[in-house]
Amino acid sequence: MGNQEPKYKRVVIKLSGEALLNRETGEPFDPPVLESIARQLKEVHELGVEIAIVVGGGNIFRGLKGEKRGVDRTTGDYMGMLSTVINGLAFMDVIEKMGIPVRVQSAIPVEKIAEPFILRRAKRHLEKGRIVIFVAGTGNPYFSTDTTAALRASEMGADVILKATNVDGVYDKDPKKYPDAKKYEKLDFLEALRKRLKVMDSTAFSLCLDNKMPILVFSMQEEGSIRRAVCGEAIGTVVTAED
Ligand code: UDP
Repeated sequence: MGNQEPKYKRVVIKLSGEALLNRETGEPFDPPVLESIARQLKEVHELGVEIAIVVGGGNIFRGLKGEKRGVDRTTGDYMGMLSTVINGLAFMDVIEKMGIPVRVQSAIPVEKIAEPFILRRAKRHLEKGRIVIFVAGTGNPYFSTDTTAALRASEMGADVILKATNVDGVYDKDPKKYPDAKKYEKLDFLEALRKRLKVMDSTAFSLCLDNKMPILVFSMQEEGSIRRAVCGEAIGTVVTAED
């Protein structure tokens, strides 16, 4: 196991906020879940893979939810971006406790708690073996953290986006509703578009399509999943540009 060769050298892992949620109590964080993810990251880090993380905020606040609560869309979006800062700090601590150096870079200046996002500096951190956590999304309302992952992966020259979710890939229909739903192992961007499959939101998806950035959608609930994904094992669904 330990001597597996990674397929990717530099990865951007998109962790949705919902994946951090405690499903029983509804609390925004579930410490065992955070620790499991951090242990999995450590395993991948030990393989020499450069890891950048884009963290979501859905476990705390989403802009669209705000509209229902009497908050304007843009204000709600800023609240959503601040939620990702909270999640990023939680991750920073858990990962650091495992002995891995971490830097948090924020798209909205919060200089007391995180570095500003500076592309070259972020790359340097990766080269030095630090995990970089990108928070505050793109810094702009009307975007998502999936779009942030597409953007950061493209500008950082990552080999792939690993989209870790609670579903183990892309299906032809909702597997929670339809037991006969079929999972795709491989897709190309145009096929995914033609079949109207939901891989990411449309802005994020177009960025990946335009920049030929592969996306691997998988579930990280099982220990070792991130390592398997990074080593190119058949896990989840991989979406690539046509060869
Ligand atoms: N958000 C934003 N701009 C960005 C990234 C995020 O306005 O560039 C806001 C948006 O309101 C979003 C929230 O932050 O709903 C949390 O991010 P997201 O929903 O992508 O988190 P996830 O679903 O991954 O937990």
